[in-house]
Amino acid sequence: MLPQTENSNAFASLAMESSHSVKHILSIDLEDYFQVEAFAGSVSREDWDRFPSRVEANCHRLLDTFDRHNVKATFFVLGWIAQRFPALVREVHERGHEVACHSYWHRKISSLTPAEFRADTRAACDAIQQAASVRVTGYRAPTWSVTPTSLWALDILVEEGFTYDSSIFPIQHDLYGIPGASRYPYFHTTSHGERLLEFPPATVKLVGRNMPAAGGGWFRIFPLFYTKWAFRRFEAENRPAVFYLHPWEIDPDQPRISASLKSRLRHYTNLRSTQSRLDDLLRSFQFQTFKEHLQEGPYDVSPAGPSDLQAAITQ
Ligand SMILES: [Zn+2]
Repeated sequence: MLPQTENSNAFASLAMESSHSVKHILSIDLEDYFQVEAFAGSVSREDWDRFPSRVEANCHRLLDTFDRHNVKATFFVLGWIAQRFPALVREVHERGHEVACHSYWHRKISSLTPAEFRADTRAACDAIQQAASVRVTGYRAPTWSVTPTSLWALDILVEEGFTYDSSIFPIQHDLYGIPGASRYPYFHTTSHGERLLEFPPATVKLVGRNMPAAGGGWFRIFPLFYTKWAFRRFEAENRPAVFYLHPWEIDPDQPRISASLKSRLRHYTNLRSTQSRLDDLLRSFQFQTFKEHLQEGPYDVSPAGPSDLQAAITQ
């Protein structure tokens, strides 16, 4: 049961119609079911080519879903996928969605040197840009892996021409997160004084803790009303929530991979109901891409320098 704090009337707002004045941000991390961090210990990257791919069929289901709801999304594309399925990435772009970068090899940034991160990012951008003939400006790290020890990656993203990032989850988690980081978009100032817009995935503050409400596993495991309640709280503040999903999350028939119980729970819970939940969410709220959101400018966020993020990290 969710604690009744911060706003005891919050659940009452569930009954209210969405105001539709706020357009939330819809994003997809375009990768296949065997490439996720939960299975990284069971599936080596050299074996990716041996797994039966389901990314094309699942991505087409998402594209058709978005067409039905007349909504566009930002697709953070894995470079490996763009290399092997260029027609799919081109189709995503041609159907009006934004194409952005989700690295090439889906390795956590903390496992890379700065030079390796730069090379991986360039390889991904080359593959994506060759596939879709479009320059990407947005980045999302694999497994939300911009953490206190890998903030240097943001400097490299600016140097490589990115204008926004959506990789810092302001929560406490066993794999990632900066719990004290801002819950709202802000400008991160790099060590060279340049600015990168950071879009944290959606959270709600409950009993002093940030709880994830952005999609993915939480969207499948928590009841749907929790996500809808969180989104209405964003609307009450006239702010967009950042939502994300993976193509494999609407695929209950994907091959099963043996892994730890925790990994299997994270990956396989409620796959069968995700499509209907997604349809419900898209009926209940308005969404757009990061690019569309930025074009609505002028972009009015509170500048937060590195000292703010540093303060969050040292909390
Ligand atoms: Zn991913």
